[in-house]
Amino acid sequence: MDRKWADYFGCGYAVSVNSATSGLYAAVGAIGISPGDEVIVPPLTMSASVMAVIGYQGVPIFADCEPDYSCIDPVSVESRISKRTKAIVAVNLFGQPANFKALREIADKHGLLIIEDNAQSPGAFYFDKPAGTLGDIGVFSLNCHKAIQCGEGGVAVTDNQEFAERMQLIRNHAESVVESMPHVSMVNMVGQNYRMTEVHAAIAICQLDKLVSVSRRRQDLAARLSEQLSQFAFLKVPNTREGATHVYYQYMLRYSSNELGVSRQTFVDALNAEGFSAKQGYVKPLYLLPIFQKQIAFGESGNPFSLKDTAPNYAQGLCPVSERLHFEELICADLMRFDISSEEVDAFASAVDKVASHCGELK
Ligand SMILES: *Cc1c(COP(=O)(O)O)cnc(C)c1O
Repeated sequence: MDRKWADYFGCGYAVSVNSATSGLYAAVGAIGISPGDEVIVPPLTMSASVMAVIGYQGVPIFADCEPDYSCIDPVSVESRISKRTKAIVAVNLFGQPANFKALREIADKHGLLIIEDNAQSPGAFYFDKPAGTLGDIGVFSLNCHKAIQCGEGGVAVTDNQEFAERMQLIRNHAESVVESMPHVSMVNMVGQNYRMTEVHAAIAICQLDKLVSVSRRRQDLAARLSEQLSQFAFLKVPNTREGATHVYYQYMLRYSSNELGVSRQTFVDALNAEGFSAKQGYVKPLYLLPIFQKQIAFGESGNPFSLKDTAPNYAQGLCPVSERLHFEELICADLMRFDISSEEVDAFASAVDKVASHCGELK
């Protein structure tokens, strides 16, 4: 499994684990995040991308997202760097890579490592390199919501032998740390049981063979939908950044209530009354969760947030673009399911047209 995955994605090492969450924890452990270290993270992502940092008592520092692609914004990342910054978590959100060109430049300039959360974008490319192989460690998910899946599972990939060895150890109780490891850096590890089972690996290997075809299917449907929806001034169809391909884990629209003159809630309710299950927003910017608002993760003394010299900022308004995307603009069409047909995609576009032409009555 690990050899096949590494060969397929053209990277040095793959470490299969039992979820992407486990992969993210192993990655944060492998790069040596220590209590009080700062890691720059995006607010629009599944919680595990950020909680893995907390798991090692690192302090997540939120950078804003790009208005056009919803991925972490390199300009904002650079503005958040401090003496204690060790790494960046970049998430390839909704099916396309983050701006790795700019992120890599910033990381190199400041001596930072990049963990790439590629749970949503296997099969995408960035300047001909597979998504997942753009960071120092990349993490894939094989859970049942993802493009390819084996029930529950994940894989962490890297070209760095030491990171790979550390992840292999963390995956398996770090047992051999006890005796035989050659490097001092191999000793400070607490292992878990993150092992993928053979049964899941067998399914994952078969699923890998389907990655191209399932991605192509979603790309075709997304293209068909975008062609029909781009006529509407109140909707922005998903953009793909320069040099990237998009595999549409989710088809996310951006809505302008000013253009149509009705609220996003009203628009989505009217659309769903036509038989769809579109959703408003993605996830609430993560710094608004209680753990950050109350600044307590472990015990009662503010650990790990109090390990930072000055209290981290998690106030509402911290990442205005991310807040606007979630609370005002993003609409998830919820059409990128396996059983979706071209007819259903066309019906969605017709429903948008119908709602738009009746918007006077909705006001
Ligand atoms: C699904 C997802 C994860 C977690 O994947 P699991 O395999 O369920 O642990 C992590 N990050 C992102 C961005 C995801 O979409």
